[in-house]
Amino acid sequence: MKDYDLKNPYTGDTIATYNLDDSKSIHSKLKKALEIQTSWANMEIEDRCQLLTNVAELLIERKEEYAKLMTQEMGKPISQGVAEIEKCAWVCDFYALNAEDLLADELIDTDADESFISHDPLGCILAVMPWNYPFWQVLRFAAPTLTAGNTALLKHAKNVTGCSLAIEQLFLDAGYPEGCFQSIKSGHEEIEKLIAHEGIKAVTLTGSEKAGRSIARTAGENLKKSVLELGGNNACIIWEDADLDQYISTMATARMQNTGQSCIAAKRFIVCADIYDNFIEKFTAEIKSFKVGDPMDKDTFIGVMAREDLAEELQKQVQDSIDMGAEVILGNERNGAYFSPTILTNVTKEMPVFKEETFGPVAAITKVANREEAIQLATNSRFGLGSMLFTQDIDSAMDMISQIPDGAFFINDMVKSDPRLPFGGTKASGYGRELSREGILEFVNKKTVYIK
Ligand code: NAP
Repeated sequence: MKDYDLKNPYTGDTIATYNLDDSKSIHSKLKKALEIQTSWANMEIEDRCQLLTNVAELLIERKEEYAKLMTQEMGKPISQGVAEIEKCAWVCDFYALNAEDLLADELIDTDADESFISHDPLGCILAVMPWNYPFWQVLRFAAPTLTAGNTALLKHAKNVTGCSLAIEQLFLDAGYPEGCFQSIKSGHEEIEKLIAHEGIKAVTLTGSEKAGRSIARTAGENLKKSVLELGGNNACIIWEDADLDQYISTMATARMQNTGQSCIAAKRFIVCADIYDNFIEKFTAEIKSFKVGDPMDKDTFIGVMAREDLAEELQKQVQDSIDMGAEVILGNERNGAYFSPTILTNVTKEMPVFKEETFGPVAAITKVANREEAIQLATNSRFGLGSMLFTQDIDSAMDMISQIPDGAFFINDMVKSDPRLPFGGTKASGYGRELSREGILEFVNKKTVYIK
């Protein structure tokens, strides 16, 4: 099969060469997953939880090694890589502790002698994952899904193939039976064939809207369940009474963490006129204070983007917006995969940096007259992953809950994922939920049992 090289986006060096699995080897992996399925599902839940605890321990032991791998493959600043691995250990610990309760039969009082919902695994689940949080995206799916008694095949983004193979090995080292969690290196056509295969019971994708449409189409044609975690264009709404001294660093981090390559990043800053000048001054100072440079340096906060073509795409969105009247007050310099932290003002709702997802370190700022206009503009988006609102007027902020049509609404904090809370979007950001009780129940058969 065709070889492909992985290049370190910071140094430009070739790190490794891989080749895609052919159909035969993909099908032999699926066969293995199906062979192990029944015994895995029949294993005591305590034993499956113990294996998950082993994964958490190994993650902590190996956090430096895994962080380095992510930095090499996709340029993540290494300190953020270590934090990502620690978060993966957290999600494993969360489900190791709670899965038994979350999956327990749910008794319901009816006219039967006994009636309840039981939660049976579906079988083998296909996961298609992106490169931006190469470990977290996979672990937040795998921890609940495997513990519910399913097996899984992972097709990771090509540019993080090393991470994909390391995660497969992690599960084996933790004691999972062979076949329970396997990584495949495949092109897109093989994914279509897999979704159509009767052995695959459901598919989950974290990725772009385009990939979402294609995978959902194939899943729909084959009557398979799908969960889609897609792009976002989160608004960061700043009302005139926001406490900038306390929260300016949260606002800046919300845009620039992971070098701006986060689905839940604050992408559109919508700022009330009375606080606008003060906000611009403090926000610019905060962004300038971030250390930019070699992602292997533990003090670096902003490194390179994951690939040069992604930086080029971002540059085009910025340039098209400038042509339409946006003003650059910081940055807008590109060198290979590096794109400097950039702030654009005078952004209007017609511009690409407002309408489209910008997946890199670019903050788009729009001034509005008042709170109502801010909410109106914030909700003017095809995407619905999350919104954040900064204000000291919590009562009025709470009145906005029903007006925000997104999967999440954070008041005085950045939108973030937490194993205890459901995570997912609405509109073009996808459907279904990960994490918490909702996440572990996505890939189970909620079976009604009625006994008279
Ligand atoms: P992407 O291009 O959609 O790729 C994501 C994954 O889907 C990769 O494994 C890719 O494989 C695969 N893929 C793409 N098109 C496919 C198709 N037609 N059939 C089968 N597989 C396909 O997205 P990305 O650039 O890696 O990631 C960035 C996007 O993910 C952004 O839009 C971001 O907002 C979104 N995201 C969403 C969340 C969330 O939780 N909502 C979290 C993180 C990221 P190849 O690499 O082989 O092309």
